Order: sequence, then C-alpha cells, then structure tokens
Amino acid sequence: MLETSVDNIQKAYDTVTETFLSGKTRPIAWRKHQIKQLGFLVQDNEDAFCAALEKDLGRPHFETITAEINPMKAEINDVHDHVAHWAKPTRVKTSPTWMAAKPTIYHEPKGIVLVIGTWNYPITLLLTPLLGAISAGCTALVKPAEQAPHTSDLLASLLPKYLDPTSFICITGGLEQSSALLKLRFDHVFYTGSGNVGRIVAKAAAEHLTPVTLELGGKSPAIVLEDANLDVVAKRIVWAKFVNAGQICISVDYVLTTPALEPKLLAALKRALAALSAPSSSSGSSTSLLQNPNYSRIVNANHFKRVCALLDATKGEVVVGGGKDEKERKVEVTIVRNVKEDDALMKDEIFGPILPVLTLPSLEAMTRFIQARETPLALYVFTSSRASRDYVFERTRSGSFMQNDVLVQFMIPGLPFGGTGQAGYGNYHGRRTFDTFSHERASASVPTWMEPVLASRYPPYSPGKLKFL
Ligand code: NAD
Repeated sequence: MLETSVDNIQKAYDTVTETFLSGKTRPIAWRKHQIKQLGFLVQDNEDAFCAALEKDLGRPHFETITAEINPMKAEINDVHDHVAHWAKPTRVKTSPTWMAAKPTIYHEPKGIVLVIGTWNYPITLLLTPLLGAISAGCTALVKPAEQAPHTSDLLASLLPKYLDPTSFICITGGLEQSSALLKLRFDHVFYTGSGNVGRIVAKAAAEHLTPVTLELGGKSPAIVLEDANLDVVAKRIVWAKFVNAGQICISVDYVLTTPALEPKLLAALKRALAALSAPSSSSGSSTSLLQNPNYSRIVNANHFKRVCALLDATKGEVVVGGGKDEKERKVEVTIVRNVKEDDALMKDEIFGPILPVLTLPSLEAMTRFIQARETPLALYVFTSSRASRDYVFERTRSGSFMQNDVLVQFMIPGLPFGGTGQAGYGNYHGRRTFDTFSHERASASVPTWMEPVLASRYPPYSPGKLKFL
C-alpha cells in the first residue's frame, strides 16, 4: 500500500493552505467543475473500484455498485445541481430599525479541512465528505482507510488525475500519518470510524479549537412485534447482516422480540437466510455462505479474530450458521438465541455477521432496555402499528429511526445522516454536506445616515434613552 511520508504531509498541508488563501476555490463555477470531475472520477472507474473492493473485502460487484457507486453519484448530482443556490448569500428578515443595513448571511468556506475515512464503505465515506468540502469552497486533505489498501491506493492515484492537485490531496497510510495529520491545525475535521479513535480525533482537534464531525457506530437494535409481517421483516433483517458481511455502521446489531413471537421469528429468519444464501446460477451448487461469491469476507485477520472470539464467547444458542473459514476470512451469518444482557455479544458493537436475538415480555420492557443503553446510531422497529412505532419513537433517541426497513436511511435523498450521543455528532448528505463545511458569516452594512436612529445608544446614559433601544 502507498504511504505518504510525514514530510510530504506538511508539504501537502502548506499547498492546500496556500491555495485556500489565494481564493482559487471560491468561485461557484470552479466548484461545480471540480464536482463534475469528482463525478467522472467515480463514473470512469466503476470497474476499478469494484475490483479493488473485491480484493479488500471480497465484496461482489453488485453491492459496490448499489451501496457505494450509485449513492455516491446521486449525492454528486444533487450537490452539483444545488450548490449555486445553497451558496447564495441569504438576506435575513429583520426588525424595521435594521432593514436599511441589509443584514445578510454569507455561506463561507470554513477553510482547510481534513477528512479521515474508514474501510467498510471506503469510497462513499471518503468522497461524500470531500464533495462537501469542494462544494463549500474549502481545500482538503483526505485520508482513506489503510484497512482497505487496494481502494486506498486507487483513490490516491485517481484524485490528482481528476481534481485540482493544489486543492485536494490524498494522504495514505495508517497511524503514523493520521497522528501527523491531527497535529496540524484544520478548520474542520470530518472523521468516520470507531468511538475510541473518535475521542482521539476530537481531543486533537480541541487543541486547535477545530470543529469536528464524528460519524461513529454503536449497537443498533431492532424491535420485532407480533403485528409485523414476519417474512418481510426476516428478509430485511438478515439482509442487513448479509450485505458486506454485516460490517455496516447501521446494520441491525441485535433483535428484541417477545418470548411468544421468538419461535416464529427464528423460523422466518432461517427461511430468509436460506433464500439469500441460495447459489446464483453462475456460482455452482453450494448453499454455504462460506463459498458464496455474493457474500463478503471480514476485512482483516484482526477483525476476523474479533468476530470469531465473540462466537466462541457467547453463552447463547446458535440457531443457524456458525461456520468460519480462516483462510478466506469468512464467517457465516449466524443467528444466536437465548442471549442474555451480560453476554459477550451484548458488550460492544458486533460489526460483523452475528445476530443475537433477545426476548423481553413487552414493548415497554424493550423500550426501557434501549433507554438504559448508549444512544444508537440507528433504531429499527418492525410493526404495522403506528401507536407502537410512536411509543418507541417518543421515548428513545437515535441517529436515525426506521419503521419496517433497514439501511435505507443512508440512501433516501433529503435525510440527514449522522449520530447523536456516543454514535457521534454532526451530519451530512444533501444540503447538510455543504453546510457541514460552510460557515454562516453574518454581515450588515450600516449606513451612516442611520446615526440619528442610533444616537440613543451612546453615553451619557439616561433612563429616558432606554425606550429607544
Ligand atoms: P478505525 O476507527 O480503527 O479506523 C478508521 C480511520 O481512523 C482509519 O482511516 C484509520 O487510519 C484512522 N485511525 C485509526 N487509529 C487512529 C488514531 N489513533 N488516530 C487517528 N486516526 C486513526 O476503524 P474501525 O474501528 O475498524 O471502524 C469501525 C467503526 O466505524 C464501527 O464502530 C462502525 O460503526 C463505525 N462506522 C461508522 C460509520 C458512520 O457513518 N457513522 C460508517 C462506517 C463505520
């Protein structure tokens, strides 16, 4: 994998700083050109991206197109079409006294920004924040995740071919490079990854009073109630563990259901898993996920060990799955029942294809269970009842809240994406991708002829003047 030397990080920082100060990135036409170029970067290299992700994650072409390339293109088109409107200065409605001063908000670029991406969706989680930086008129250093080395190398080779190389520079590497980057003073840092590293990023940024967006993870629950359409529910939940082998920040981490519904739900989950695991016509006859070319692998040996250790440590009962292949780094989608609150599977985010199912007697108990834990990035409720949906919604907090489906909150145009509490802060997508990297600069031009109107503000003070202020 390519690695940027620490000396070159300082040079890159100096370059993008100089460019920002020159004003080059400010004109809307220039930004739109760069956004278009980003679009070409994605479009021209679809096959290369799919091939890189096949190597990094064993991820099928289909999933890279549907989960990264297509949503990325949609974001790029949306921002390209709206940036001129979003960047327009906004006149504010004000009191009659101040109307003549024409109070205006300018949507100004924050400046020089840093984007640190992660490996599970290494294209979109790096390029979407970069899109935000471009659209806002910022310059940027971007660091792809070293855990997806082929994608990281590809991004590093493509960026200078498509984007202005004095404004947007890709820094590759791991801890050494991240640490060197975090010593520098940026005007915004956008980080996606784990909470532990998120804390390191936030502390380093605090040294410079730099604002931060933290896109983190956590344990996202799914409540399944008696009135849900079980076959559809099961297919959707199992899909969230199948896609990218469950290595998704908004995957269903665990399921809560009632003891009465559990047997029927488990049966539906097994059926759904068998259907998703069925071999496609080109892939031979095996139904084991370990040989299924539609099924991704675990990203690296450390994460493989971590996921296997969870399976070894659980005191729950494996209902289906459990198979692993160390050489291929694949772990089957594994459904585990009879999981207790203190089980190994309930400590940290699973971030892999294991699905614990817990039972609780009532919706109230499930809601309390969620309330007692860290605010999740996503909360899923499977029910046909508006009242049950509202009951949970009104008593919980989460980055996003979905009734009867999974994962799509990342792709529905117009919805902000981001966490709260331990799942992070700040958000992006659509207009917010632009807003994240913009500063609302307040401005007014106060005419000198207003002096008589303002005269009462000057000393000597007297109670009589107060009625004019
Ligand atoms: P990680 O946090 O270890 O790595 C992500 C990035 O952080 C990499 O670029 C890496 O180089 C950098 N990094 C690692 N250590 C660092 C340090 N000490 N200082 C500075 N930078 C450092 O990645 P991970 O833990 O494997 O990621 C998984 C987590 O990310 C999960 O919790 C998941 O939920 C979360 N995630 C969140 C989102 C989201 O959009 N909210 C998306 C994907 C993943």
